[in-house]
Amino acid sequence: MAKNTWSAKINRTVTSVLPVSKHRNGQCRQCGACCHLPNRCFFLRKSRSGIYRCVIYPIRPLNCRKYPRSESEWITPETCGFMFRPDTRPGSGKRIRNWIRTHHLAGILNLLRLISMHLHSRG
Ligand code: SF4
Repeated sequence: MAKNTWSAKINRTVTSVLPVSKHRNGQCRQCGACCHLPNRCFFLRKSRSGIYRCVIYPIRPLNCRKYPRSESEWITPETCGFMFRPDTRPGSGKRIRNWIRTHHLAGILNLLRLISMHLHSRG
């Protein structure tokens, strides 16, 4: 599982152009946990009933719109209304790799990994 760090957020931002995992089920229950990654979002508001809402919801960025996009980027399982189930269909593991290859995103992902490693090395 990814850690709640700025490099994880950068990773989610870059990979948000990728499709949401087909293994994802469930729905958002407005717990607000993902709006605290890695710190509380400026646009987050809490109602008296305890429900969180985003004041820029219609124009929220892709990484917010798609969270949790994949199980490896999912760091709020305790409260999140989504869950991931393994895809047991034959050949399912190759689909995302083929999609990345087709869309020439491997270079972008490698660049992201380098940025992430650089940020980690700086502490
Ligand atoms: S952590 Fe999951 S349930 Fe909570 S606000 Fe984010 S997407 Fe919705």
